Amino acid sequence: MIVVLKPNATEQNIQHITEKAGKLGLRVNVSRGVERTVIGFIGPEDKLQIIPLETFPGVDKVIPVLVPYKLVSREFKPDDTIINFSNGASIGGKKIAVMAGPCAIEGYDMLLSIAQKVKAAGATLLRAGAYKPRTSPYDFQGMGEEGLKILRQVSEKVGIATVTEVMDPRDVELVARYADILQIGARNMQNFALLKEVGRVKTPVLLKRGISSTIKEWLMSAEYILANGNFSVMLCERGIRTFETETRNTLDINAVPVVKQKTHLPVVVDPSHGTGRWDLVGSVAKAGVAAGADGILIEVHSNPEEAWSDGAQSLRPEKFERLMAELSAVAKAVGREL
Ligand code: PEP
Ligand code: MN
Repeated sequence: MIVVLKPNATEQNIQHITEKAGKLGLRVNVSRGVERTVIGFIGPEDKLQIIPLETFPGVDKVIPVLVPYKLVSREFKPDDTIINFSNGASIGGKKIAVMAGPCAIEGYDMLLSIAQKVKAAGATLLRAGAYKPRTSPYDFQGMGEEGLKILRQVSEKVGIATVTEVMDPRDVELVARYADILQIGARNMQNFALLKEVGRVKTPVLLKRGISSTIKEWLMSAEYILANGNFSVMLCERGIRTFETETRNTLDINAVPVVKQKTHLPVVVDPSHGTGRWDLVGSVAKAGVAAGADGILIEVHSNPEEAWSDGAQSLRPEKFERLMAELSAVAKAVGREL
């Protein structure tokens, strides 16, 4: 449920409602828009029925949030969520965040060299996996905690925040000790135990869209994280499975404006997994920026032929640098910056 305040509502009116909600065991989210302030309630809403909110000073109307993803919805919070990272970078504002790096951490030297190059080219965050969700149990599964230690060392040396995947609810606290953003991979989008666990920590979460998930299912998964207390969630469109076989997945570009309409959470586009082909990554990345993405995730590897995973869709650092200049031009054309 949300309360829309009158244009002349005072801070005292807001405080009065906040205090009443607190007494009922509910938390509030106050969105101060240019024209109106909207208060959203977090917690068991039935408790609100006992207080006549309509009669409170400053209240214009009380509106139920009808969509099932309540905390995630724009009704609940009309203004865009901006998430700040440890190194001063952020996502959700005018500046588009670029997350770049190898699919997997393969060692200290390779990660350091890629991190330095992507940072110099303007990337906001370093991405690299220590736990890899592989189709075959015989393929490289990631370096685990040793990889996380390398990620942290490189992050500190280069001065760049990091995003890395967590696959197991038991590893959430461990991964959160080393990384700035926890990635929930496409295959785990509906791993509800994992979603609840990342909801209980404060570390921002990048929630990838499931391989065969609808936008509604994706938003419901995000709702799990917010409902458990973590409001720092980014949604990442990384392509869905269709009948098309030319590309690894079909990046659903429609999802970007749809999700921007329905939620206040930042949206990231991943053209690397979305296409599976390095030669298509640039075009689809530009489409993502043009469509309104708040972030772009790109796999970069110095030697894609030798990469331990996802080499076919990884850009060499020089290509990534050139693409950054093109993305910057597209960003400017749509009123954003890189
Ligand atoms: C990845 O980012 O390397 C990855 C495994 O992504 P996804 O979960 O989208 O396949
Ligand atoms: Mn990958």
